[in-house]
Amino acid sequence: WQGKFYEQTAGTSMGSPLSPVLADIFMEEFESSSLLTADLRPSLWLRYVDDTFVVWPHGPDTLQDFLQYLNKQHTSISFTMEQEQHGTIPFLDVKISRNPDGTLGHSVYRKPTHTDRYLHQRSFHHPSIKSSVNRTLVQRAFEVCDQDNLKRELQHIQTSLQRNGYKPNRIKISKPDQRVPYTQGPPTVSPSVTLPYIGPASHHLQRILRQAGVKVYHSSGNKLQGSLHTHKDKQDSSSKPGVYRIPCECGKVYIGETGRNLPTRLKEHRAHGRRGDFDKSAIVKHSHINDHKVDWDAAELIAPIQFWHPRRIREAIEIRKHNTVPQDIGFHLNDIWLPLLQTDGSPIP
Ligand SMILES: [Zn+2]
Repeated sequence: WQGKFYEQTAGTSMGSPLSPVLADIFMEEFESSSLLTADLRPSLWLRYVDDTFVVWPHGPDTLQDFLQYLNKQHTSISFTMEQEQHGTIPFLDVKISRNPDGTLGHSVYRKPTHTDRYLHQRSFHHPSIKSSVNRTLVQRAFEVCDQDNLKRELQHIQTSLQRNGYKPNRIKISKPDQRVPYTQGPPTVSPSVTLPYIGPASHHLQRILRQAGVKVYHSSGNKLQGSLHTHKDKQDSSSKPGVYRIPCECGKVYIGETGRNLPTRLKEHRAHGRRGDFDKSAIVKHSHINDHKVDWDAAELIAPIQFWHPRRIREAIEIRKHNTVPQDIGFHLNDIWLPLLQTDGSPIP
């Protein structure tokens, strides 16, 4: 961050797949020893990762003592506490409320700042993604709400979806179908392909491919966020492996790839020139034979690509797209892809 590196000295890395497992093991040990030795114990202690739901039957004064006691058990474990307000308390995404008869009611909890903004009906996405917004909201309602709260929650879903552009008669608030139970047997493997979603043409392609027994998944196209800059420090792209371009004064270019970085690779090309090793560098050879001047300063990385195989494919694509000096065509591209490679120099999306 801003040129400084910070070292994490305690705990597990955030986002690591191992972290929740280790946290669980640690917390289980912590709970069993702490709760055993406490003077007064909660009548219910339920935990999800680092969120704990507790029923305390001994009154508010002793509850503060219990919190202090827990926080003394381990130097790096510190609990904060939230108590019920007007007989309700949120836990995870469930709002739990105390009923007059002593039972607990439950419904969907939304933060006070929640705006009920969902994927808009006119948003450029495959219809199946939009219908899944409706489906998951309804499914959560049936999973989380008790009978008394369910009707109100479904009504809420209906109005929020309408405010997000969904037509009233297209909104489904009936009980979702039960999932088909998993049946034993060899899993059927069918070929599948993932394509960017581009509207009506995607549905057309999907139908054709389905008839051929190919399953189609859709990825979303470029989002605004992808074009915006992140707050993270960027590595200078010239220090990355990738596909590069060296222009000659005649307008032709040389396309190459490197697993190290561009400055290193350029030095090698120029060294071949100085030593007269013209067969080792196509751009040096071209400049020598035709007495052209290579514009070394305008050499640039076209695409930073870390791994060898995709880099070789990209190199071959760029060779096809550019007006190159005589050079090896690189990786063999199947002719089936050629119609996709525009040769007017526009970048590959
Ligand atoms: Zn030239």
